[in-house]
Amino acid sequence: MTGFREECAVMGVWNHEEAARLAYLGLYAMQHRGQESAGIVSMRSGEHVLHKGLGLVGDVFKEPDLARLVGDAAIGHVRYSTTGQNLLANAQPLAANLLNGPVALAHNGNIVNTDGIRKRLQEKGAIFQGTTDTECLLHLISRTPTNEIVEALKMSLSEVVGAYSLVVMTHDRLVAIRDPNGFRPLVLGTKANEKGQTSYMVASETCAFDLIGAKYIREIEPGEIFWIDENGTHSEIFAKAPRLSRCVFEHVYFARPDSVVFGRSVYESRKQFGRWLSKENPTEADVVIPVPDSGVPSALGYSVESGIPFEFGIIRNHYVGRTFIQPAQSIRSFGVKIKLNPQSAVLAGKRVIVVDDSLVRGTTSQKIVRLIRQAGAKEVHMRIASPPTIGPCYYGVDTPQKSHLIAANQSLDEIRQFIEADSLSYLSLEGMFQALQSAPTQFCAACFDSKYPTPLENDSLAHAKVATP
Ligand code: AMP
Repeated sequence: MTGFREECAVMGVWNHEEAARLAYLGLYAMQHRGQESAGIVSMRSGEHVLHKGLGLVGDVFKEPDLARLVGDAAIGHVRYSTTGQNLLANAQPLAANLLNGPVALAHNGNIVNTDGIRKRLQEKGAIFQGTTDTECLLHLISRTPTNEIVEALKMSLSEVVGAYSLVVMTHDRLVAIRDPNGFRPLVLGTKANEKGQTSYMVASETCAFDLIGAKYIREIEPGEIFWIDENGTHSEIFAKAPRLSRCVFEHVYFARPDSVVFGRSVYESRKQFGRWLSKENPTEADVVIPVPDSGVPSALGYSVESGIPFEFGIIRNHYVGRTFIQPAQSIRSFGVKIKLNPQSAVLAGKRVIVVDDSLVRGTTSQKIVRLIRQAGAKEVHMRIASPPTIGPCYYGVDTPQKSHLIAANQSLDEIRQFIEADSLSYLSLEGMFQALQSAPTQFCAACFDSKYPTPLENDSLAHAKVATP
C-alpha cells in the first residue's frame, strides 16, 4: 500500500542569492501543513545540494546546513503522514540524477492510481526506496523518451490521476505544476533580489510570501505547467478536468487563516462559516467561545451574526510539544488540560455556545464539552463550522478511515450524546457554499458528501464511491 494519507507544503525559489534561506523561512511559515519531515534542495551552477531530515523545520536545519545549501535556486518540502511510513526515504524533496542531469521534486497531494503504476514499474525492474506516490512520478519521468523536463513531466502526468501541486527543479529550470482538478493550492509570488532583478517564488500558501516579503501574484492554475529558466517565465495549460475540485477543507481547517487560498481569504471564509452556522441554527445563549485556535474565526462570525458576546472561555498553552513526557498514572488524569484550560470566570453559570471548525472522531469535542462543564457552565451547545465529516480524504488531507468518522456511523443525536453536549449542530453543505459564495462544482467536498471527483484506482481506495463528474 502506498503512503496515501499525507499532508504537505511545497516551496520554490528562483534567482535569489539567499534561495535556500528563503525556502527555509517559507517552510517555517507552512509548518502547520506537515511536521514529520522537512527538506530543501538548492542549486548552484547546475549542481544540486540536498539536506532533509525527520522533524520540524527548525530542528532539521541548523546554520551549517543552510550554509551548505548554496546557490540562487531552491525547492523545499514539509511532510506529515499517518501511515506509519515516517521514513527518511519518504522525506522530500526527492532527488535523483537522470540522463540529462539532476532532478529534485516536491509534491503536495496524493495520486490515487499509483498501485498499478508502481507494480508495472517494478515488473520492469524499477527499484523503490520509499513508499510515496511521488517516487512513482520520478520513475515515470526518468523513463520518458525525452530529456526535455517539461515534455517529460507532461508525458508522465498524463498517466497519473489525483492531487498534485508540484515543484520541480533541474539543472536549469524551476517548474511549478497544479493538477487539472486543482485540488491543492499553489501560488506564485515575486521579490526583488539584491541586484534589483525579479526573483520568483512558488508556495503552497501565501503566508510563506508574507514572511519573506514576497508579493503574491496569482495562483498556478489548475492544469497549468509554469516554468522559469534563463529566458524568463513560460506557461502552458497541459490538461483540463471535467470540473474543478479545489479542496474545501483547506478553507475549513487545513490552511492558515492568514493565507489567501484559491483566491480567497481563509480567515474570511471561516468567519462566514460561523455567520451561516448561526443563521441556520439560532440558539439562545450567554456567551460564544471558540475551541482555540481552529474555531476562533468561526466563533467570531457566529458572535457577530447572533449578537451573543464572544469570549475566550478556553485558553490554549502554545508550548505543548510532541515530546511531552506523560506523568505517572496517578496524576495523568489532567489529560487535555495540558493544552486547553477552561476559564470559570467566563463559563460559570453560563449557557455556552462552543464553536469548532470540524468534528472528525468526536473525541476532542467530548473532552472539550466535559472541560466546559467542569468549569461550571450551565448548558453547552456544540456548533461545528462545517458539515458532518463522512468521507476519508484520498487527495492529501489526513482524515481517518470511514469506520472512525463518527458522523459516517452515528446519527446527529447519537453524536450529541457521545460528546455529552446539550445540543449539537453542524453547518449545512448548502450553507458552506453560500458562505464561500461559490458553486459546489468549484470544490471537492468529498469529506462532507462522499462524492470523489476522480476514479480511485488504488486497491486500498477502490471501495470508495466515485462521483460522476
Ligand atoms: P476529533 O473529532 O477528536 O477527531 O478531532 C477534531 C479536531 O481535530 C477538530 O477540532 C479539528 O480542529 C482537528 N482536525 C480536523 N481535521 C484534522 C486533520 N486532518 N489533522 C489534524 N487535526 C484535524
